[in-house]
Amino acid sequence: MQECIFCRIVAKEVPSDIVYEDDEVVAFRDINPQAPVHLLIVPRKHLPTLNDVTSDDQPLLGKLLLIARQLAHQWQVADDGYRLVLNVNRGAGQSVYHIHMHLLGGRVFHWPPG
Ligand code: 5GP
Ligand code: ZN
Repeated sequence: MQECIFCRIVAKEVPSDIVYEDDEVVAFRDINPQAPVHLLIVPRKHLPTLNDVTSDDQPLLGKLLLIARQLAHQWQVADDGYRLVLNVNRGAGQSVYHIHMHLLGGRVFHWPPG
C-alpha cells in the first residue's frame, strides 16, 4: 500500500471529491477548506516538492496552471479573483509531500500572506 495520501487519492484508494482528472493531473476539494472554493490540483506523478522537479516536468507544471485557469472559470471565481498557492517545505507550511497547487477563491485574500 502506498504511504502518500495524494498518491492514494489519485489511485482512488482513498475517497475524495474529484472535480477534474485526466491522464496526468487530478483536482479535488480540500478536506479542510480555507475559502469557499478550495481545490487541490495534483500531478499523478509523485514528486515530493517543487525542489524535486526537473526540466522534464516543464510541460506538466505548465499544465497545472492551465487547469487552474479552467477550474477558476468553472467555479466562477475567475473574475473576482483567486489565489494559487504552492507551499514548498516546512517553512512554507507544506504538510503533504506530493506537489499540489491550491486554488483558493470566493473571498478576499490579503497581502502579505500569513
Ligand atoms: P499543504 O499544507 O501541504 O500545502 O496542503 C495540504 C492540503 O491537503 C491541506 O490544505 C489539507 O487540508 C489537504 N489534505 C490533507 N489530507 C487530505 C485528504 O485526505 N483529502 C483531501 N481532500 N485533502 C487533504
Ligand atoms: Zn504521492
